[in-house]
Amino acid sequence: MWRVGRVGAFALVIAACRPAASIEAPPIEGASAEASDEGAGAGEVAEAPPVVDEEAALPPAWVAAADKLAEAAKGDTTGWERLAEMADLFGHRLSGSLALERAIDWSLDQMRRDGLVNVRREKVMVPHWVRGEERARAIAPVERPLAILGLGGTVGTGKRPLRGEIMVVRDLDELRARAGEARGKIVVVNQPMPPFDHERHETHYGGTVQIRSNGAVEGARAGAKAVLIRSVTAVSLRSPHTGALRYADDVPKIPAAALSIEDAEFLARMARRGPVEVELSLGAKTLPDAESGNAIGELRGRELPDEVVVIGGHIDSWDVGDGSSDDGGGCMMAIEALRLLQEAGLRPRRTIRAVLFTNEENGLRGGIAYHAAHGGERHVAAIEADVGAGAPWGFSISGSEAEVAAIQAYAPLLRRFGAGALFPGGGGADISPLTRDGVLSLGLVPDTSHYFDLHHSPADTVDKIDPEHLERNAAALAMMAYLLADR
Ligand SMILES: [Zn+2]
Repeated sequence: MWRVGRVGAFALVIAACRPAASIEAPPIEGASAEASDEGAGAGEVAEAPPVVDEEAALPPAWVAAADKLAEAAKGDTTGWERLAEMADLFGHRLSGSLALERAIDWSLDQMRRDGLVNVRREKVMVPHWVRGEERARAIAPVERPLAILGLGGTVGTGKRPLRGEIMVVRDLDELRARAGEARGKIVVVNQPMPPFDHERHETHYGGTVQIRSNGAVEGARAGAKAVLIRSVTAVSLRSPHTGALRYADDVPKIPAAALSIEDAEFLARMARRGPVEVELSLGAKTLPDAESGNAIGELRGRELPDEVVVIGGHIDSWDVGDGSSDDGGGCMMAIEALRLLQEAGLRPRRTIRAVLFTNEENGLRGGIAYHAAHGGERHVAAIEADVGAGAPWGFSISGSEAEVAAIQAYAPLLRRFGAGALFPGGGGADISPLTRDGVLSLGLVPDTSHYFDLHHSPADTVDKIDPEHLERNAAALAMMAYLLADR
């Protein structure tokens, strides 16, 4: 774990950043502004003189709002309790599943219970892919079961298991260079994701995930009959990680699955010794689109209620684990942010609208439908929480230099929650249709050093999330939304 002491946090200077290489994992340069353990969630980090000076430059009403929010969040674990309830009652929430629809209805009940207004479900038709039964094993020269997960959207292998010799490549470049050898084989792409870079807060997800997105197309182009990719994670306890793949119209759709790191390494070692045969059985199929919905609730603005700040995450998940880090936590943060604002007695000038988007993982239909229904309204900003619920760290900001600078001036208020790192970067996938319209878009970015250890795997469960981290993220989200809605 990286830890930055109080002095380090106050001395924080956000370096100019590269543009985000991926929406889910914006690479960030600059130091960490994580609050020290003892300051957690308490808003009691104001003993260093520079912070007091910076706060003095901000409207006293905002400083008072920050005090109230910090007080409201202190010791509260409502956000995590709700997340655990959703995880335990409904489990994972793949598009097309009954569990997703029940979780959406339950979320709407939570919003009504909190006294939000205009609470509603807005219909969205979503893709309905189902995994079915899956099995893989090495059959020659040794027999060995392999830990796999079919990639989201993959075709099945048909009634009989598919068998074939494997060809192991290090990356897609090597596959293209050796395409002549791949015909009729099962291609194994064993590209490692480098470990998290703590100094640069770089996950390396963006540079690795292409093997999952494009492996099936590149394999099919080379004539392979199936593709097995190494899971897109730097850390494994033999847990395979799924995620969406992409097919192209000009090549056959071939089955594709992710191997655990351990099994990818096993196959690579075996292949160096001689020919290896694998058997693969995927029961996946794609059914007709199913009905789902975005869950929406509002805290109406006191002066300009028709102007909106959207906050949210995606309520759907992959069909493994319980999807608490990706992205049940982000959804509960959005609900909790509005609850904290109400508890603190804070009503900004403009409306803050929580949107729990459906179908981010394998279609983005929720984000697209929200934009189609509401893109004409005046959105002054949108904030997405979809990179887990690690300790609060900051926000990435997709806006003009002047907008970024204006928001950076709010850092003293966000530092109380540990979220003072404010840097240029992406907003999030669900709000990307708004971003393309020029809406100021932010991403809530906690400590992501362990996010991809869990992401899209059976290990993404609620017990991995610290209740205090989730609450402080919710408070930071509330603070930022309040500032953008009130200025
Ligand atoms: Zn997500």
